[in-house]
Amino acid sequence: MPVENDILAQVGHQTHETEFYSPLPDGYQKGRTKYVVVMGTVMSGLGKGIFSSSVAKLLKDKGLVVSPIKLEGYLNIDSGTLNPYRHGEVFVLDDGMETDMDLGTYERMLEQNLNADNFCTSGQIYRKVLDKERTGGYLGRDVQMIPHVTGEVKYLLRNLAVKQNADVVFVEVGGTVGDFENMFYIEALRELAFEEGPNSVCFVALTYIIEPKALGEQKSKAAQLGVKRMMELGIQPHIVACRGRNLMGETVREKIAMFTNVPMSRVFSMHDRDSIYTIPEDMHREGLDLQILSLLELHSAVKPAVEDSARQKWAGYINLLTAKRKHTINIGITGKYAHLRDAYASIDKALEHSGAHLSAEIKVHWLDTTEMDNFDENVIADQLANMDAVIVPGGFGHRGTEGKIACVKYCRENKIPYLGICLGFQMAVIEYARNVCGLANAASTEFSPDADNPVIDILPEQKEIEGLGGNMRLGGKDVALTPDSFASQLYDGKSMIRERFRHRYEVDPKYIDTLEGAGLIFSGRHPKHPIMQVLELPTDVHPYFVGGQFHPELTSRPLTPAPMFMGLVAAAIKHAYPDVSPQEIGEQWLPFPKEPAGAS
Ligand code: GLN
Repeated sequence: MPVENDILAQVGHQTHETEFYSPLPDGYQKGRTKYVVVMGTVMSGLGKGIFSSSVAKLLKDKGLVVSPIKLEGYLNIDSGTLNPYRHGEVFVLDDGMETDMDLGTYERMLEQNLNADNFCTSGQIYRKVLDKERTGGYLGRDVQMIPHVTGEVKYLLRNLAVKQNADVVFVEVGGTVGDFENMFYIEALRELAFEEGPNSVCFVALTYIIEPKALGEQKSKAAQLGVKRMMELGIQPHIVACRGRNLMGETVREKIAMFTNVPMSRVFSMHDRDSIYTIPEDMHREGLDLQILSLLELHSAVKPAVEDSARQKWAGYINLLTAKRKHTINIGITGKYAHLRDAYASIDKALEHSGAHLSAEIKVHWLDTTEMDNFDENVIADQLANMDAVIVPGGFGHRGTEGKIACVKYCRENKIPYLGICLGFQMAVIEYARNVCGLANAASTEFSPDADNPVIDILPEQKEIEGLGGNMRLGGKDVALTPDSFASQLYDGKSMIRERFRHRYEVDPKYIDTLEGAGLIFSGRHPKHPIMQVLELPTDVHPYFVGGQFHPELTSRPLTPAPMFMGLVAAAIKHAYPDVSPQEIGEQWLPFPKEPAGAS
């Protein structure tokens, strides 16, 4: 392109008098990275993340380097303070960034760790602009939404491209196109497409086809209007993907094409499926990946050998996922937000992964422990009697904790497989301290500040060592596993693993001797400091009693399911089908038989 027509060349030479503000990160090469932008219309919650991660996976499997980013409209700097009941679970990345649950979808679908560069909120952008203004970064200009705020958005996307050496950046805009709070993102993306030039940015409109029961037919008007709204903002989509209950009919496809200037071959049906993991293959079958390669002129970047092997591996998982399951098991999950599945999205997925690998159909039962606070042992027994395993997941605050402790007791005494996650790990320690060690009124200072035996406590001096002050311990950390422990068996004999944390409280080290003296084993610890990170009971005492101060569900992936979930599901199968042989279940996930004492 001649220099005078190249807007990037012009903005590159900007002085404070220019109207342009489009700073480029060091090392940015125009044309090196392509962009796929996914926006929603009609309504939020359509699964933009699922769509975007599925397309990203298809391109990654072809040997391309992909980097997703979610642009959130809200002003919070991260998702750490959001209520999971309203917004779904808080997902934690390895670098400690607390994000929207969609980042979990990307990590699982792409089998790829993401970091803070992959997550942006309006709050982050405004903070950057305001900080920069205070330090004179705008050279005397009046700071405006356009070009300064939009300029920072473009910088962020290009910076991601450089930092992650991306062939394709996938941009997901949160909410819907009409949202007031998203306007500057959409404007920035329009500018980006103009600056990058043709065949550099592919816009996808994800929309919804309504199918009212009373009419019994699919209606496309809301979808048409939604895409129109996008066009009013200066963005012509290249692809329209239509969510809906059923496969989209031809009439609707024709109407969408006619009203949106998008050829029929680029209007895709994204109807509901049993599992999101079958979507990439369905998209491939319909040619969506090829359309995107053409639009972005990426055909020559495809590595067929990489693609063959990646698709084969994925097909193996899909076979497991869709095969008829040999076993049916019941797993109870306690939780304050029990009626809202999104609050536990990663646990749900971790169970889906391990259920597929171990051929178990898992029936999840949500147990509302807030109802159990004035618990009666008979009520707990009634609720748990039919469970093959119980999970007490992470949580904050007082409500429901006594009910959870009662559930742990029942599982421990009745040999029901138990997995305690974060708060669930702490509940197991408290239960053991109270009922086995006889430590009266053992508790966590999170909800009993004056407990006689605060076995779980906030230990600022401990956090100080890690440079965290009084803050939450967040993100991926190393965990040293005791050799020959059941935990190390589950983790394939490894002595050091990495898991993700999000907690403030921990086991007070002064109680460790008492707890271990009474039989509880802390088989995973901080490599240097006395921070307890995994607990277990001897496998000849209990078939599966395991807890992690971390969240194993956050790193469970379809092809590499979380070992603690594999162990739990295997133990649950054994519980439900005592006669099934360990070989048939999966020996490596069940405790290896103990050598009799004295045997050589
Ligand atoms: N509330 C507990 C803590 O802060 C547990 C946190 C969690 O389960 N994520 O330590």
